[in-house]
Amino acid sequence: MNLAEIVTARYGKSIRDCTNQELYYALLEMTKRMAGEKVSNQGKRKLYYISAEFLIGKLLSNNLINLGIYDDVEKLLSENGKQLSEIETIEPEPSLGNGGLGRLAACFLDSIATLGLNGDGIGLNYHYGLFKQVFRDNLQQETPNPWMEKESWLTKTDTVYPISFGGFTLNSRMYDIDVTGYGNRTTKLHLFDVETIDESIVEGEGIDFDKEDLAKNLTLFLYPDDSDEKGQILRIYQQYFMVSSGARLILDEVLQRGHSLHELYRYATIQINDTHPTMVIPELIRLLMERGILMDEAIDIVSKTCAYTNHTILAEALEKWPVRYLKKAVPQLMPIIYELNNRVMKRYRDESVYIIDDENRVHMAHIDIHYGYSVNGVAYLHTEILKNSELHNFYRIYPEKFNNKTNGITFRRWLLHCNPRLASLIEELIGPGFKKDAMELEKLAAYADNDMVLNRLLGVKIACKEELKDYLERTQGIALNGDSIFDIQIKRLHEYKRQQMNALYVIHKYFEIKSGVKPSTPITVIFGAKAAPAYVIAKDIIHLILCLQQLIDQDPDVSPYLKVVMVENYNVTLAEKLIPAADIHEQISLASKEASGTSNMKFMLNGAVALGTMDGANVEIADLVGQDNIYIFGESSDDVIQHYEKADYVSKDFYENDPQIRRAVDFIVSDTLLTLGQEECLRRLYKELLSKDWFMTLLDLKSYIEEKEKALKEYENRREWAKKMLANISKAGFFSSDRTIAQYNSEVWKL
Ligand SMILES: *Cc1c(COP(=O)(O)O)cnc(C)c1O
Repeated sequence: MNLAEIVTARYGKSIRDCTNQELYYALLEMTKRMAGEKVSNQGKRKLYYISAEFLIGKLLSNNLINLGIYDDVEKLLSENGKQLSEIETIEPEPSLGNGGLGRLAACFLDSIATLGLNGDGIGLNYHYGLFKQVFRDNLQQETPNPWMEKESWLTKTDTVYPISFGGFTLNSRMYDIDVTGYGNRTTKLHLFDVETIDESIVEGEGIDFDKEDLAKNLTLFLYPDDSDEKGQILRIYQQYFMVSSGARLILDEVLQRGHSLHELYRYATIQINDTHPTMVIPELIRLLMERGILMDEAIDIVSKTCAYTNHTILAEALEKWPVRYLKKAVPQLMPIIYELNNRVMKRYRDESVYIIDDENRVHMAHIDIHYGYSVNGVAYLHTEILKNSELHNFYRIYPEKFNNKTNGITFRRWLLHCNPRLASLIEELIGPGFKKDAMELEKLAAYADNDMVLNRLLGVKIACKEELKDYLERTQGIALNGDSIFDIQIKRLHEYKRQQMNALYVIHKYFEIKSGVKPSTPITVIFGAKAAPAYVIAKDIIHLILCLQQLIDQDPDVSPYLKVVMVENYNVTLAEKLIPAADIHEQISLASKEASGTSNMKFMLNGAVALGTMDGANVEIADLVGQDNIYIFGESSDDVIQHYEKADYVSKDFYENDPQIRRAVDFIVSDTLLTLGQEECLRRLYKELLSKDWFMTLLDLKSYIEEKEKALKEYENRREWAKKMLANISKAGFFSSDRTIAQYNSEVWKL
């Protein structure tokens, strides 16, 4: 059925007479039907990508692009007086992810579908997702983010599994979302849900609820507050619910295809995205034993089936669950986990590789490494750090398991969809081949001295900046100066990502302007970031940025030259507007701490130039574009690792020895800011920076300021700047998730 027919059948009227809301539902129906008719990928071995997060973003436009009908639909609608871009705004964004790791999973599904690989995603169907961020009195507040409407991308299936926990059982129902690949293929995202969820248990305007009423709360939120024991045990319940449902699906599918579970690994492979799905290993062993396979063989089968991706070296992010919690939530797994640990203890003397430590905590990553066949990091530097320091003792035992898969992004969403102007300029210059083979972008290098092309590239950037300006004006009441330089930092708020360093730069610039030193081009510093609800210092940093925003907006001496903006509720939809409009993007994490980053890749593809440290995939970006096309500063990861080993970093020394740093830090607790903000928050942040500064902000602040000044100065020569933009775009092909997925397939999954 075409759109006109669907509209007639649903509403008995013509496209012209429909509301945008009605057209959205009609397009949803049409797209779901078309996706359902596509060939789904087949193969002997099937991949199951299990992840607690799939940050899929809105799906309508992306699906239309991947189905190859975006232009036709847009034309049909405009002939009937309707605008697809307005209909798009009606779609709610599911917030089934938190940041890079969840967005990576979504990009991977797109590439798996596009490459025709036999692979599905498995996750949870969170009703309120992460949370919706609102700002009140310069503070972050959290509210639920409902996204499931009566009609949505979800298709209810008949698959239901009873999942037993210590003392009770919940039914798990599978919902499917079709994932369309570019071209004619599809795959599926399976999201499991509890049927008895009760959204009304969320109290008041916030996100608090009774954490012990599991039948009503299990799939309400992604990462419910885990600052207390109840919250932590709830996460274990969620994780087990996800992996037990997934494990049953996998076994059922292998049996349905007529294979024996003794050969599970020949027909299925499971990629464990970070440690959240780790319990799939003991759970599969348990299920195989329930079906009559002896323990030795069950362990062997599962070890050949599961592969693990590490996303972080931050100690606090590596999950270690107390045995006591697991005994309460999933007692049936504990005998297996003990046995897995006993086998490790028998083989190795080194306590650092044990699964259960002397404080009776279960190290989830250790299960993955011992009982999986592959361990990968997500960028070259990160994998080297895993091998040489963080996981060195494991690398010595299993060198053959370790491999690198540098992350990637889908160019369908992060170029074709979010920046159609740039995509069509590229197509005009080098033809459409880059849409399937991203490495063809290198052909753009031939235009490095072509003034006409460089000018058009600048023209595209100006148009994207205007579009962002209109969008933020309309949706958030923010007024931007389209003639200023857009310097953007968007990512989860975390001390290691060092938004606080950017904020200190803003303070530095504020003082300069106050003293009469004005930038040649006005500067707009844009932030977008959510802080985890229980992460106090992260919320203090948001508070500081919002106070600076207000201070500068109210100051007529400074506001013509400098503006700070923190957009509310940063999500995929906002990223799609912000990234095409960036001139400079901030990738300023403390070297060694950002495993890869993927916003760096999105920005590069859209012709922004990075200001960053030699961390994560920035290292590979710098290698590709060369030092003229990136701004690098700060201490190396080796030096930083040394500082931690020697414990020789003292932030106060940097404060005391440098008047510029001192002035900026002191301003946080100045009377000027204290009249705008909350004294408690600002003093806490000030104290944190001076007495701890675990992520070494002050270490790199000076070189950061210098390098940023260099970038701002070089921006003044627009022709040279346009060459940098072109160099970045032409080298971005390596960061297509099609390349990443092809490598996973040829080196790990072998589908
Ligand atoms: C790409 C993306 C991220 C990851 O950003 P990093 O800067 O790599 O941490 C986070 N959130 C959203 C919405 C994204 O699109």
